[in-house]
Amino acid sequence: MLARHAVRSVAILLMVGALVVGVANDTRAEGMPRAIPPVSEAARAVGLIDVRSAVPDALIDLRYATSDNFVGEALYPADARCLVHESMRAGLATAARALRRSNEVLVFWDCYRPHSVQQKMFDKVSNPAWVAAPGPYSRSHEAGRSVDVTVAARLPECPKPRRIADRCLLDMGTDFDSFTPAATAYATAGVPVAAQRARARLRNAMAAGGLAVYSGEWWHFDGPGAGARRPVIDVAPR
Ligand SMILES: [Zn+2]
Repeated sequence: MLARHAVRSVAILLMVGALVVGVANDTRAEGMPRAIPPVSEAARAVGLIDVRSAVPDALIDLRYATSDNFVGEALYPADARCLVHESMRAGLATAARALRRSNEVLVFWDCYRPHSVQQKMFDKVSNPAWVAAPGPYSRSHEAGRSVDVTVAARLPECPKPRRIADRCLLDMGTDFDSFTPAATAYATAGVPVAAQRARARLRNAMAAGGLAVYSGEWWHFDGPGAGARRPVIDVAPR
């Protein structure tokens, strides 16, 4: 009798334990803070923060840290982080909160971009409509005040190329850095209706945080003062 009681107690304890672990994991997924290593001293000195300190459930997929980008080679170190200027903190947190209501999360393709990388990109695509011409100043990505983002959700089925962590990238009509008319923010030709709606959801969430889409690229959003010319920043994205 005693032994059976003990077995049942252990079973109940195990069940409670599993429940607690499950709740802890879910809570973290919903945006509870987790330990984020401090950014480098050089990055901190120019006001850059790790985006996860603003958006704890952000998924990071820095395409320029891999060869999966229009240049075809890694432009960032493999351990690059998504850094943004601290002026974007509140707006990004608001945007992420808005998307969470529809069980969607922000995915960051690019954040702060060192000046030297901007130069390398412009050398490859010398069209200012697609890649900003580098000047003797930092603005937009180079100032950590613009981000390239998309949206991921939990979908019942997900084609392999769109899988990211336990989520699925939404179909937005084009891939990142697709230099085509369909990539413009308000394009309808060649963009499925569901993708147009997904772009609109992303735009609305970002707008709630005061972040404006660049009409030439559905994934590019500017924070406050992104267009201002500031001193060149060329610290490593760490
Ligand atoms: Zn961009």
